[in-house]
Amino acid sequence: MKVSLVIPLLNEEQNIPVLYDELCQAVGNLEYEFEFIFVDDGSKDGSLARLTEIQKKDTRVVVVSFRRNFGQTAAMAAGFDYATGDVIITIDADLQNDPRDIAKLLAKVREGYDVVTGWRFDRKDAFINRRLPSIIANRLISFTTGVKLHDYGCTLKAFRKEVVKNVRLYGEMHRFIPAIASGMGIEYAEIVVNHRSRRFGKSKYGISRTLRVILDLLTVKFLLSFSTRPIHVFGFLGLISGGLGFLIGLLMLAQRQFFNVPMGDRPLLFLAVLLIFIGVQFISIGLLAEMQARIYHESQNKPVYYIRKVLGGAAPDGGHNGG
Ligand code: UDP
Ligand code: MG
Repeated sequence: MKVSLVIPLLNEEQNIPVLYDELCQAVGNLEYEFEFIFVDDGSKDGSLARLTEIQKKDTRVVVVSFRRNFGQTAAMAAGFDYATGDVIITIDADLQNDPRDIAKLLAKVREGYDVVTGWRFDRKDAFINRRLPSIIANRLISFTTGVKLHDYGCTLKAFRKEVVKNVRLYGEMHRFIPAIASGMGIEYAEIVVNHRSRRFGKSKYGISRTLRVILDLLTVKFLLSFSTRPIHVFGFLGLISGGLGFLIGLLMLAQRQFFNVPMGDRPLLFLAVLLIFIGVQFISIGLLAEMQARIYHESQNKPVYYIRKVLGGAAPDGGHNGG
């Protein structure tokens, strides 16, 4: 079994040599073949120089260097593209994750899990602007997506190759990979990992990340539940809104016919018209989204299902196997 370590980094020159040493030590006596994929996300310090030195001496090391800073998610996506291992492990370059946990992750993968995530049980970050928002976000994401994890934000995670090769990442979606991948049907597990405070360099994120995580969650939830049937969300809202408007209108009409209540000057009339309008809009958006869903899946040859294995039979014409 081959294992690819994917390490996204931005301006971590002081951490790189220490990290490399720790990684070598941590994987030294494991019986797997390893490759280290460092993705330099447009660093402006000496990070690339450090990596170049390391790469010259060690053939297991691959360095992918971005033209500019594209973000941690993009860096991970590049790492996944270059990874050739059967299992891919992501780890931060700032030494906050402990390379010694790699062995534990791999043992869990060996038990048959597709995704194994780290839980920074004793997290060494500030409480108010880091751990508290994170606790709330993790609860929310677990509840919304049904993939129950205590620590989505921990970069230290292990994935089977099939998982990362089937997940397309945009924006800052890397933390959601377990949730996104749950759409293809995965077995996942969480293990407690060591966490350390940052010694060199500084964190690249602030409190504003929390809001972006909430917005991303909205996207993930929508794609997970409705990407192949958007009309069920929009159409549902449309029917409720339109139906309500129609009923209110009908009521007012009846009142005018049978009780002589004039309807032209009633605020309720505006509400009825508004609701019917919104209803029509929602249903139209739903229909457009249905067309988009077809374009999305068919133009990329993206399957609407993922198969674990097939026993017997021949490959279908133009069929998908999820790979
Ligand atoms: N990182 C990156 N690109 C960015 C921001 C961060 O590659 O645009 C890397 C960073 O170098 C580190 C990891 O992502 O290896 C996690 O970042 P950081 O430690 O700043 O996040 P925190 O631990 O504070 O959540
Ligand atoms: Mg960090």
